[in-house]
Amino acid sequence: MSTTSAPPALAQSRSVLTAIPGPRSMALARRRAAAVAAGVSSVLPVYVARASGAIVEDVDGNRLVDLGSGIAVTSVGAAAPEVVAAVAAQAADFTHTCFMVSPYEEYVEVCERLAELTPGTHEKRSVLVSSGAEAVENAVKTARRATGRDAVLVLDHAYHGRTNLTMAMTARAMPYKTGFGPFAGEVYRVPTSYPLRDPAGMTGAEAAARAIDVAERMVGADRVAALVVEPIQGEGGFVVPAPGFLPAMAAWAQAHGIVLVVDEVQTGFARTGAMFACEHEGVVPDLIATAKGIAGGLPLGAVTGRADLMDAVHPGGLGGTFGGNPVACAAALASMALFESLDLVGAARAIEAVVRAGLEPVADASPAVAELRGRGAMLAVELVRPGTLEPDRAAAAQVARACAAAGVLVLTCGTWGNVVRLLPPLVIGRPLLEDGVEVLAGALRALPA
Ligand SMILES: *Cc1c(COP(=O)(O)O)cnc(C)c1O
Repeated sequence: MSTTSAPPALAQSRSVLTAIPGPRSMALARRRAAAVAAGVSSVLPVYVARASGAIVEDVDGNRLVDLGSGIAVTSVGAAAPEVVAAVAAQAADFTHTCFMVSPYEEYVEVCERLAELTPGTHEKRSVLVSSGAEAVENAVKTARRATGRDAVLVLDHAYHGRTNLTMAMTARAMPYKTGFGPFAGEVYRVPTSYPLRDPAGMTGAEAAARAIDVAERMVGADRVAALVVEPIQGEGGFVVPAPGFLPAMAAWAQAHGIVLVVDEVQTGFARTGAMFACEHEGVVPDLIATAKGIAGGLPLGAVTGRADLMDAVHPGGLGGTFGGNPVACAAALASMALFESLDLVGAARAIEAVVRAGLEPVADASPAVAELRGRGAMLAVELVRPGTLEPDRAAAAQVARACAAAGVLVLTCGTWGNVVRLLPPLVIGRPLLEDGVEVLAGALRALPA
């Protein structure tokens, strides 16, 4: 929790003036229904007028505490002044040329910064894209080209995106896959480590052995191009694998010439109290996919990794019209400077301490809370029917609704939709965070015991 060098433009306090959603939001919802595809849904149908720091102000003048950051994107705050200035300056210079047509320095500089920030001291190269799914796809393309193999291993509960290949890699059918097949082939799913739901006492090494056994029997290690893992699963429920799981999977991949792709689209850029979550376990990926928190809200993604793998792709094999857009690159460079100057890694750790202090008492006391888990500013509670491990999706929805009505924006996730997750901007001030956490604690206390 730090403050930006310039003060945020909106008061960093909660204020609820109308019902949520208010009348202006309701009017916009009616316009939306007649114009926007029904397949696009919104967590909270309040329409945003302005946002800054960790406050979202809606069109009815309510100020909501943002504990979601637009899904782990606005880590440096909504409308961070340094990002806004960089975007304005770059847009005035030029908005687009296409790096594949006529290149520019900002793209090169983002790739240089990525090489410095990502784990490992080996020589690295990067390609820039426009979304997380595109980053994951390009990592798989690169791994296949470099190894000459075709199989891809993914984990149970994984989320990797909504394109055809990444839908195949994503575990959960509804809403991500139902009715959208057939899916890309040669994607194989193996069990992950999910301490709450694994046999009691199962170690990370045992969970890895279970996954490797399935991979070797069902696919064969010598056919596998890439093993793709989220170091902490995001949409799947903020599942933190047992210690030792990731290192054991990484060692197996390395022993068999399998490219280890770590999907840090949600966990990356200081979110978990390390610049990248795989650092908590000392894992150095061959390729790392990033997006979400990289550019202060502008659309940008990247694959960064071993130069020998990245450069195995023929010229022209990677790219895209908008990939590495100069305005997005300028925003990324400004954001990357803020991660360091504001010590947002330290801020994420301080957020964890505040959230745990606020939620541990209710997690311990409430039989509806099976677990409070996560790392840094990526924390969640998994909700169950009291006395069981049966997922309680309705309870998660009720908690999110109660928070929204009080002016606090929280998200849900999980394979069963029964996890309430927190992804606050890393610049959130302590009083605002404590206020939001107290509202969430109250909503959890209201669950039936
Ligand atoms: C969000 C997410 C993606 C997909 O990113 P988009 O930008 O939505 O395409 C991929 N992997 C993980 C882990 C994510 O959280």
